[in-house]
Amino acid sequence: MSEHLLEVKNLQTNFATGTGIVQAVRGIDLHVDSGEFLGIVGESGCGKSVTMLSIMRLLADNAAVRADKLEFNGKDLLAENEKAMKKLRGNEIGMIFQDPMTSLNPLYTVGTQLMEPLKLHQKLKKKEAKEKAIEMLRIVGINEPEKRINQYPHEMSGGMRQRVMIAIAMCCDPKILIADEPTTALDVTIQAQIMELMQDLKERFSTSVILITHDLGVIAQVCTRVVVMYGGLVMEEGSLDQIFYETKHPYTKGLLESVPRDAELEDGVYEKQKLKPIPGSPPDLMNPPKGCPFAARCQYAMKICNMAPAELTTVSEGHRAACWLLHPQAAARNKEV
Ligand code: SF4
Repeated sequence: MSEHLLEVKNLQTNFATGTGIVQAVRGIDLHVDSGEFLGIVGESGCGKSVTMLSIMRLLADNAAVRADKLEFNGKDLLAENEKAMKKLRGNEIGMIFQDPMTSLNPLYTVGTQLMEPLKLHQKLKKKEAKEKAIEMLRIVGINEPEKRINQYPHEMSGGMRQRVMIAIAMCCDPKILIADEPTTALDVTIQAQIMELMQDLKERFSTSVILITHDLGVIAQVCTRVVVMYGGLVMEEGSLDQIFYETKHPYTKGLLESVPRDAELEDGVYEKQKLKPIPGSPPDLMNPPKGCPFAARCQYAMKICNMAPAELTTVSEGHRAACWLLHPQAAARNKEV
């Protein structure tokens, strides 16, 4: 049995389409421990959301998911039948999606949507489910929850709807919460409030959290460990400090440089720095490159980078990166090819 709460080894997810096979996730390893706040970061299309949907087994029929290991709390998720997965989802694994307006059903009150998992998974009677739903709305910071429970999603602001989504995801006290870009559709002040709320709830319920985002600023606020994905592969992983201050992978460096920041000119005087985007665009995963997926955009690319992808190399305890620059014989191997 795995020592981790969630352990994924060599996960591969392909989608069959009319024009070919899209290799969205191409063999990634990751793990989450109890009480951990893990951030998964990368550009759109890098495979981070597909990874999470593969773990939840929530993909369409044209998806094929393979893994050497996909274990959650001692259960082999690939071997579980759909009935068992339904029990796990919402009960032991909670999920918050990107857009609270489309994730909530506009035809039902928030109370009905909040009471549903409580009745289904926790077998609560209607009255108990209503009491728990009101309590959850209060916990996530919704004023007058007794009144709000009877409202429809369109009667609430974006921030309130996301709070309701968090209440739904947390109401059955899951062991792990997967939050897929939970703040993207919200303005900056609400984003900060939602991240603060998620951190409070993580402490209160001792839940592990996986936060999927393209925003390193959000990662810096709350995460303890970070996985950087690109082209369906893991490029770098490490603690928050290792990723931010001991960065090893050129893609991670590019992501960090593209975060908007102010430069201090003199004491207390700041100037907005120009954004430094990463030139080029992500690889076509229908025809992924043979070598490093970042080679076409990397200023340090060598010949070998186009020949084979670099394996994840341990840089220090808990810190790994997949870059040929870290290979002790990179220069020699580069001459060979
Ligand atoms: Fe750049 Fe090569 Fe490292 Fe890829 S393996 S990030 S192309 S140096």
